Amino acid sequence: MAAYDPENIFAKILRGEIPSTRVYEDDETLAFMDIMPRADGHLLVIPKTPCRNILDATPEQLAAVMATVQKMAKAVVKAFDADGLTIQQFNEAAGGQEVFHLHFHVLPRHDGVAVRAPGTMGDFDLIAEHGERVKAALS
Ligand code: 5GP
Repeated sequence: MAAYDPENIFAKILRGEIPSTRVYEDDETLAFMDIMPRADGHLLVIPKTPCRNILDATPEQLAAVMATVQKMAKAVVKAFDADGLTIQQFNEAAGGQEVFHLHFHVLPRHDGVAVRAPGTMGDFDLIAEHGERVKAALS
């Protein structure tokens, strides 16, 4: 497996070098809205410390991230009055991973509504509004 690249896009988001719609953070993890949402409220949870994916993550990194995934799962269900949710996590290019900093996708889901196709840039204002809804659900 390749080494962790500190110039990956999520490392830049963590360092504040590129903007993101942050919705939650603690000492170990960050949650922010996906820029190409496949469902309204689609967000990502990452560790603040470096690892590529589940293959090199420590048990401590995974435990911290999963605790935040659960917190955000409950928040998006509340914020979007969802009927359920989908959690996704990809490992290496062969597994569908495109950004090589461990991340979990959290997507609120509604009965009978399919996820959108990948790769379509979301509307910035709408993503910001959805981020505010998530933050309100956390408080
Ligand atoms: P994966 O690596 O799990 O296949 O997908 C990476 C995810 O990161 C995609 O859902 C994509 O929309 C999202 N993404 C890629 N670049 C950015 C970015 O600059 N900002 C944000 N917020 N999300 C991004």
